[in-house]
Amino acid sequence: MTTTSQQNLAPSEQAQGFLSRDEHHLFIDGEKVPATSGKTMTTLNPSTGEVLARLAAGDQSDVDRAVLAARKAFKGQWSTWTPYERQALLMRVAQVLDERFEELVHIEAMDMGAPVSRLRNTKATLMKMLSFFASQAMSITGETLMNGLPGDVTTMTLKAPVGVVGGIIPWNGPLNGQFWIVGAVLASGCTAVLKPASEASLSVLRVAEILHEAGVPAGVINVVTGSGKEAGHALAAHPDVDRIAFTGSTQTGRSIIQASTANIKKLQLELGGKSADIVCADADLEKAVPGAAMGVFANSGQICFAGTRVLVQRSIVDEFTERLLAYMETLRVGRSLDAATTLGPVISQSQLDTVLSYIDIGQNEGAELLCGGQRLEGELGSGYFMQPSVFGGVTNEMRIAREEIFGPVLSIMPFDDVDEAIAIANDSEYGLGGAVWSQSLSTALRVVQGVHTGTMWVNCYGYIDPLVGFSGTKLSGYGYKGTAAHMDTYLYTKSVYMQL
Ligand code: NAP
Ligand code: MG
Repeated sequence: MTTTSQQNLAPSEQAQGFLSRDEHHLFIDGEKVPATSGKTMTTLNPSTGEVLARLAAGDQSDVDRAVLAARKAFKGQWSTWTPYERQALLMRVAQVLDERFEELVHIEAMDMGAPVSRLRNTKATLMKMLSFFASQAMSITGETLMNGLPGDVTTMTLKAPVGVVGGIIPWNGPLNGQFWIVGAVLASGCTAVLKPASEASLSVLRVAEILHEAGVPAGVINVVTGSGKEAGHALAAHPDVDRIAFTGSTQTGRSIIQASTANIKKLQLELGGKSADIVCADADLEKAVPGAAMGVFANSGQICFAGTRVLVQRSIVDEFTERLLAYMETLRVGRSLDAATTLGPVISQSQLDTVLSYIDIGQNEGAELLCGGQRLEGELGSGYFMQPSVFGGVTNEMRIAREEIFGPVLSIMPFDDVDEAIAIANDSEYGLGGAVWSQSLSTALRVVQGVHTGTMWVNCYGYIDPLVGFSGTKLSGYGYKGTAAHMDTYLYTKSVYMQL
């Protein structure tokens, strides 16, 4: 690992204009409004530890206001928009975001610490998501169904939007992540109240304004910033919210399930992970080494489906480890606005403390720290930077193999044969991602079929396409993202029996 230079760290003029506001208000019914209580909170730049912006600290009363606006919009003019009009809107949104993406990259980089190089690469994914949802706006169909009823009864199903959606968003990639909700809302005719993470709300606020300028009617997309305990909980428990889309920790997921019971909300929960990335002896290591490394270190390890348990067949552990440690030298840790940076900081001091505590836990459990393990000092000392870290000799009983660390820490875990690798992969409470690297199609398929997880990659890691989708199982949650199955969760099905 090396660190990048500290040159050219000014954000773009447009991003600077947005960031220079004294306070970032809530976005309700097409208007920027302060919290009812007048309270504010700050968000930091994790590259510097400095205050980046002041945000409205919304609470229950603000969530009430936003839900009211979303309900009014749901019943109003928006409900008369045709599929053609909603598709045209999504295409306009795509065009505007295409033009404004660099501004959003800078805001996101400064707010949550992902490097601009990584964020720029996500533009193509966002454009695909918007194309996908634009196509889905035109693809909502019911069925005519045969029946065994007496007389002349005609039967069919109709699809209709579920209503007001609450979107509770994590900090690890809100710029793109919000579009799993926003895209489906615009395509289906629902409306939404979004509650972004306290530590990274700015790209969600900015996108809501841009969407409104692009023609999204007032009240269709609302944003209430504020703490999870107040604003997030109020949204999850709100009696007039029909559905919650949540991404975040398993623990918060449980509390959202509990809060949702009052009015039996529909839920989609994407939670934690501890994915196994299985490298077989016949793998092409030229690809498997960088692939497995970036399967963990991308976004500084702050990705739910990160393949943090790297299972390596015993006969190649030494060679794999040697190549991995050489690859680690190519990673460049630095501030998010530095174009040469490949790994930014972690989100906060408390996240950094948590991740560093796992370095101690791993060593106390008998794992061997092969590289990294330290906070970065000097020029980067005021930010939340740490060295990307690799543990060797990890066994599946260790806490570092069982608990989600959510930081740049990779564990190498040896295995003897493929059945053992599958058993280790499955010995986890989570089931989100996973991969296998092998030149044998039959080995790869055996692993794909054997691992109990929502998503598997073969000879690659982390590809997501809305046409294909992904999901989790076990403690990683439920609710498919992508494909028509995703859209279906923003719709309800009405059965119709007509005696004509
Ligand atoms: P978190 O605490 O669950 O926060 C996620 C969101 O939920 C934030 O907007 C948060 O608001 C809000 N929240 C917190 N408590 C709430 C409550 N009681 N009711 C309603 N909303 C509440 O997650 P985190 O610690 O920020 O993120 C790290 C964890 O999330 C990791 O475990 C990671 O695996 C998981 N994660 C999973 C995915 C995925 O795609 N599966 C993606 C990202 C993160 P505040 O920010 O104000 O607390
Ligand atoms: Mg921040």
